[in-house]
Amino acid sequence: MTDAEVDLFVIGAGSGGTRAARIAVGYGAKVMVAEEFRLGGTCVIRGCIPKKLFVYASRFPDEFEDAEGFGWKIERTSFDWPTLVAGKEKEITRLSGLYGTFMTRAGAEIVESRAVIEDANTVRVLKDDRRIRAKHILIATGGAPVLEPKIPGLEHTITSNEIFDLPVFPQRLLIVGGGYIAVEFASVFVRLGATVTQVLRGENVLRGFDDDLRNNLAVSLRDAGIDLRTGILPTSIEKTNKGLDVHLSDGSCVEADQVLIATGRRPNTENLGLEEAGVKLNAKGAVMVDSHSKTSVENIYAVGDVTDRINLTPVAVREGHAFADTLFGNRPTVVNHINVPSAVFTTPEIGTVGLSEQEARKIFDCVDIYLAHFRPLKANMSGREEKVMMKIVVDGATDQVLGVHILGHDAAEMAQLVAIPVRMGCKKADFDATMALHPTAAEELVTMRTRAARYERSPAERA
Ligand code: NDP
Repeated sequence: MTDAEVDLFVIGAGSGGTRAARIAVGYGAKVMVAEEFRLGGTCVIRGCIPKKLFVYASRFPDEFEDAEGFGWKIERTSFDWPTLVAGKEKEITRLSGLYGTFMTRAGAEIVESRAVIEDANTVRVLKDDRRIRAKHILIATGGAPVLEPKIPGLEHTITSNEIFDLPVFPQRLLIVGGGYIAVEFASVFVRLGATVTQVLRGENVLRGFDDDLRNNLAVSLRDAGIDLRTGILPTSIEKTNKGLDVHLSDGSCVEADQVLIATGRRPNTENLGLEEAGVKLNAKGAVMVDSHSKTSVENIYAVGDVTDRINLTPVAVREGHAFADTLFGNRPTVVNHINVPSAVFTTPEIGTVGLSEQEARKIFDCVDIYLAHFRPLKANMSGREEKVMMKIVVDGATDQVLGVHILGHDAAEMAQLVAIPVRMGCKKADFDATMALHPTAAEELVTMRTRAARYERSPAERA
């Protein structure tokens, strides 16, 4: 006996799940959505949105300093952490509320509870032990931080889940990892006034990004005062009466108030009943899906980080939308995961789309590089030592732009726009033919005429 019947049961009300629910309801489907934490998922509650608010907060000190070069006298500034945390909470609560309103207004039923799959057509809502019969199930449970390396004292650390709500500002912060989360929080907290040490196992930050971006960002992070140590990891963490003693693999010890572990995320697939229902997972525990987000079980689908394709909010949203279009709108839609722009909200920030130089050189016989480093106009007056870097990666044989990589103010905004021509397969000649918009930083993208390098494979290498 089941307590209700629906066309679609969505597990997880994050970016992918809510979009899928809303679009499916629009096509007339009866939809129920379960969320065990807060509506909005990682992006809204403890990811992109609160992070960006913290990034804004962190950039004011630079503005205060720069203002002097333009005639302003700023006598005294101070920063109040509880005000930032409270402001952030208000904004994410507003957004979370909107997620609920949009879904219920559209006609979806929301249940605030964990839900698990019992069999291919039954979901159990744990809060009130209801059994729901569902024609289709969508798994949109996202991901969770991975705590690595497994060292003594790991229980004293925090992840990106906790850092947004610390009751006390961490004056001394040690960050483990060199990925998106690690560099973004290092950049934020050093500007808010913390002493930041960042340790990572590799030799540079942001593995997988273009090497020029990585190298220039590492310089900027160090210039901002971050003690960035590569090839080093913690070996143990001890609680003392002054905070935490973090013992490192080079034999040194750093005192910290908080240790943030940012060593990646794993798909949230544990104890969901997936194996029992026959849903296949890959070696990393991610749900395996086809191009229509269908799992190994005919009527069970999955979108977003839980599938570990490209773990970014807009990708999850697209996947959720395409799923609903395909299944309920009779409009089969496949999401294109190529040329997805992304940003890293450090200061300076990164905006990037397409292939890095290193990736392009593995695939193409002839790769042209256009590279610009320049001091932005504002920095000439403020006196700030600041450089913008822009790089265009081009297929030397066809002139097609393969990648654009930017480090500097508003790089993310530029990357969103430049992603359009790159996705359309535009040529470097199209960039050249586009009139510059002066005075901007972005005009450099259409005025880079001189090739910085050409990498050509010899006939022997091509064979
Ligand atoms: P990332 O995958 O970006 O980085 C993980 C870092 O942890 C790397 O430096 C990695 O090193 C290191 N690492 C992995 N395993 C270990 C280990 N066992 N011991 C020591 N170090 C280890 O993960 P994040 O946690 O930073 O972010 C998770 C995801 O969240 C991102 O991939 C991204 O999809 C998303 N995100 C996106 C943002 C944005 O769009 N701006 C912002 C924040 C998060 P190595 O490089 O050597 O493997």
